[in-house]
Amino acid sequence: MSTPLLELSGIRVVFGDFTALDGIDLTVGEGELRFLIGPNGAGKTTLIDVVTGRTRPTSGTVAFAGRRLTRRGEHRVVRAGIGRTFQTAVVFEELTVADNVDLAASFRMSPIGLLRRRRGLSGPVAAVLDRVGLAALADHRAGTLSHGRRQWLEIAMLLAQDPRLLLLDEPVAGMNADERQRTGELLTEIAADHTVIVVEHDMDFLRRYARDVTVLHEGRVLTEGTVAEVQADPRVQEVYLGR
Ligand code: ADP
Repeated sequence: MSTPLLELSGIRVVFGDFTALDGIDLTVGEGELRFLIGPNGAGKTTLIDVVTGRTRPTSGTVAFAGRRLTRRGEHRVVRAGIGRTFQTAVVFEELTVADNVDLAASFRMSPIGLLRRRRGLSGPVAAVLDRVGLAALADHRAGTLSHGRRQWLEIAMLLAQDPRLLLLDEPVAGMNADERQRTGELLTEIAADHTVIVVEHDMDFLRRYARDVTVLHEGRVLTEGTVAEVQADPRVQEVYLGR
């Protein structure tokens, strides 16, 4: 494996008397595109929430680029270079597509960076919009975008923050076949120069765009491997694919 970028060790998350994550050890190397699958309730979103500082683990540690991240707030996690999308894209509906990306870029900027940007010296917006295929809609209000385009705008907002690690939560949920294909291609492009973790249910999509897969079940890592290895695993068929 390449140099570890993200290392989770013994992560447990307990909500009341329910154990959502029960001792997760997970290492993702720099430059990897890792898919995270598992049935509903397996703990996938909770795991993403732990990495991004949204949920504090009951025990265990998160290290990113060799530094301990556990118990840092969400804002500091973004500053450290980790960005995420949500199952339902969170965009500012009243703002234009370009202004959404511009605003997102400012989340990770230092005060000096913000000052420079005010003077018009920084402009990743056009390049990022071009990358996700939304350049022609830069001046449209985000609230008018289709579901698929909102998802791409959210990915653009993430890229504008220049993260080292992107966490995408079900990026193709609710998309039509064309949008899925476009998203798969976009993912492949993004993964060429970023580390990416994708939570995804869609097996057709996985077969086409995934290589390395981690399967979660009842808050534990059930198995890890290539799509083919994981699909051939009877335990995975039992808990996930056979349903
Ligand atoms: P997945 O994303 O794999 O479907 P989740 O991480 O969303 O699974 O949820 C794992 C389990 O933890 C589910 O049973 C869910 O109901 C429970 N859970 C998630 N968040 C909370 C919370 N804030 N309080 C109580 N239970 C929660």
